[in-house]
Amino acid sequence: MSNPSLLILPGDGIGPEVMAEVRKIIDWFGAKRGLAFDVSEDLVGGAAYDAHGTPLHDDTMARALAVDAVLLGAVGGPKYDNLDFSVKPERGLLRLRKEMDLFSNLRPAQCFDALADFSSLKKDVVAGLDIMIVRELTSGVYFGEPRGIFEEGNERVGVNTQRYTESEIARVAKSAFELAMRRGKKLCSMEKANVMESGILWREVVIEVGKDYPEVELSHMYADNGAMQLVRWPKQFDVIVTDNLFGDLLSDCAAMLTGSLGMLPSASLGAPMANGRPKALYEPVHGSAPDIAGQAKANPIACILSFAMALRYSFDQGAEAARLEAAIQQVLADGVRTADLMGPEGGVPVTTSGMGDAIVKA
Ligand code: ATP
Ligand code: MG
Repeated sequence: MSNPSLLILPGDGIGPEVMAEVRKIIDWFGAKRGLAFDVSEDLVGGAAYDAHGTPLHDDTMARALAVDAVLLGAVGGPKYDNLDFSVKPERGLLRLRKEMDLFSNLRPAQCFDALADFSSLKKDVVAGLDIMIVRELTSGVYFGEPRGIFEEGNERVGVNTQRYTESEIARVAKSAFELAMRRGKKLCSMEKANVMESGILWREVVIEVGKDYPEVELSHMYADNGAMQLVRWPKQFDVIVTDNLFGDLLSDCAAMLTGSLGMLPSASLGAPMANGRPKALYEPVHGSAPDIAGQAKANPIACILSFAMALRYSFDQGAEAARLEAAIQQVLADGVRTADLMGPEGGVPVTTSGMGDAIVKA
């Protein structure tokens, strides 16, 4: 049997810097755990534009569709700010998401004990927190038609349409239930069924899909209350599933429960492939961070945790993902800190590659 395949797209800015640390981790798994991957690497974003005049070459797109998982660094930077919209670095990422049809966006909010002081909330509210927000990514009010700014009488009107079909709701609900099955078997669906028709349908379809998952404890919450509960007592949740707009807000809100942008991974999943696992793209939540690029300051943990998500959700290696997360926990407990994690209590300052080395060692 051939090894599982992974396409690495480091991209721009700190993307290649943090990805170099992920390569060390991947090599370690190959050497020490007998877990080898067929890794290929390609260009995306500004790097691809510089080489090919397009932010995503057709060959790269084809490779992304053929592999078991894609791991992306970050795209964009000031050098590309004045490019035509059609070849902007971000368009490379958007094309990947669209052609891979990644409708389910997973964003964990996980608090590493050693960093609990970094949260904007009290320590006991976030210590040990481990929740996951599943956001519908390809439909809803950001895409619904009609949309535009229209003339109406003697003034203009800005229009967006919140629109969800049953199948769009069902597929993201299914991916959330599958996730809940692998975690704490608890799912909370958030919408505004009290004031929105799309919310009424959302709730109906989620309940229907849930009949296939009797083991999962399903609850429903209006999204405004959900936002409040998320900052009041986030540990009441395990998996949350919600639409594109609410998910955009709730996942950013949840992100700040845990502190630095340099710590946050994400996954975007699509329909199951022949092997039963979903099409998948993993990437850190942060961008290309041009302000610190080239200075060996970037925190590689968000990208390394994105690889841990790939281990868990694309390669069925949950135990190995836990091993990697435990190593990160250990390194943080030892006080090893990139600049973004350096709080008033101090710590052992390390560069990007120093952090990668410490995690490999742990
Ligand atoms: P994008 O538009 O691509 O989301 P952005 O400009 O909104 O990018 P980032 O590029 O993520 O946001 O940077 C926001 C801030 O967070 C910057 O000051 C950056 O230096 C910091 N930052 C982002 N990622 C990291 C990281 N991995 N380690 C340390 N600092 C980071
Ligand atoms: Mg941003």
